[in-house]
Amino acid sequence: MVQNYQTEAPGLTLSTAMQEAARCLLCEDAPCSKACPAHTDPARFIRSLRFRNVKGAAEVIRENNALGAVCARVCPTERYCELACPRGQIDQPIRIGDLQRYITDMETKLGMEILKPGKDTGKRVAIIGAGPAGLQAATTLRQQGIGVTIFEAQAKAGGYLTYGIPEYRLPQVIIDHEVDRIVKLCVDLRCGVRVGQDVSWDHLKAIYDAILVTVGCQAAKELQQLANNVCTESAISFLARVKSGQLTAADLPSEVLVIGGGDVAMDVATTLKRLGVPHVTDVAYEEFSEFRASKTELAGTRQTGVTLIDGYKPVAAHQNRVTFRHRKMAAELTITADKIIYAVGQKMDLTGLVVDLQHNERILGAAKYHTADPRVFAAGDIVPGDQTVVFAVQKGKEAATEICRILLGGNEND
Ligand SMILES: Cc1cc2nc3c(=O)[nH]c(=O)nc-3n(C[C@H](O)[C@H](O)[C@H](O)COP(=O)(O)OP(=O)(O)OC[C@H]3O[C@@H](n4cnc5c(N)ncnc54)[C@H](O)[C@@H]3O)c2cc1C
Ligand code: SF4
Repeated sequence: MVQNYQTEAPGLTLSTAMQEAARCLLCEDAPCSKACPAHTDPARFIRSLRFRNVKGAAEVIRENNALGAVCARVCPTERYCELACPRGQIDQPIRIGDLQRYITDMETKLGMEILKPGKDTGKRVAIIGAGPAGLQAATTLRQQGIGVTIFEAQAKAGGYLTYGIPEYRLPQVIIDHEVDRIVKLCVDLRCGVRVGQDVSWDHLKAIYDAILVTVGCQAAKELQQLANNVCTESAISFLARVKSGQLTAADLPSEVLVIGGGDVAMDVATTLKRLGVPHVTDVAYEEFSEFRASKTELAGTRQTGVTLIDGYKPVAAHQNRVTFRHRKMAAELTITADKIIYAVGQKMDLTGLVVDLQHNERILGAAKYHTADPRVFAAGDIVPGDQTVVFAVQKGKEAATEICRILLGGNEND
């Protein structure tokens, strides 16, 4: 198959999904389920699938994960559920992500509507940011009968699902289906509204019973050596422009340099190759054994023909020439490229929001997801914990559960 930007790897068929499910050892203590940060419970959904009960399997996934179809595609399963799978000690772990994808694809094909709102409580919560944490929190709040308005700065919901993760790993249609299911719970989703600019913080405080801040880490960390260099662009800006169709293959030069050794750098390098750029070089500070990118992503990037160089840090840049020095050896390297894309991390930007997260960092765990203001909560990438989609789902769910406890009193499941 042609590996272009749009092509997603094929999923399992009914027969390959059943064969894969049949490999499951049906462990009583279900280590895979314990290892899933969002409690998506693979042990139970695989068991249902073995009985050809696809509906039951989809219901298990949706019990705890409103973004089950997304997680199926993007979870670093080798660090979570599949790492814990005892079958891995015999031959290969069960392909849990792929089974989850098969089940959620069937859910969509069969038009199942599993999520349902709870009885109205009259309480209202504003969520700032429609990334995975905000979307999951909205679902949990609506299931408990709390009214939800989500304010999203971008034109579309999804956060980094929509404006970061490339199409070949996560097709936009999958995100759109997940968002539609959540909006159908009567979530008032207002896109193109930046809190602090288009609507004021004080306005939200006056109208809503609580505010949940899930704005993610949307600003790029900069490389001082590349400051003010006209040939450079941050990885998140590049990926967002490609995903939204603002930047196409025709706009790209033939030589591009990528700086970084994480998953985001691999996404950039692979995207460039899939768009047809002939010469893509990625230089990372880390040595290969320490790369932050997952093994799967690194292998995928290698396969596309990207030149990978490890152990060098940038020390100087002059227009389209970047000089690197080896971390350990007395070696220098100068690379010339028409475009330079840096992927050295993301940070939060809380401009216009009155939120004190210091408080949250100190007491997270003791008083979950609170900030210094008793009516303001925070979740997702901006609070401590892994910065992955499945963790954002879990944090969004836990923050929403805490809000329910505060607003409704007692046990929100009553
Ligand atoms: C390129 C890339 C690839 C990634 N790949 C993976 C992967 O394969 N697997 C994985 O698990 N994780 C991956 N991640 C990480 C994952 O996407 C994040 O951990 C996750 O999206 C965090 O969710 P969030 O809801 O906290 O924030 P975000 O997804 O960052 O969403 C925050 C939202 O808030 C909105 N917002 C910000 N400020 C305001 C404001 N003032 N008013 C209104 N709205 C506002 C933003 O527009 C955005 O939509 C990747 C990240 C990137 C950048
Ligand atoms: S949500 Fe992710 S980590 Fe959890 S079981 Fe599914 S694929 Fe594994």
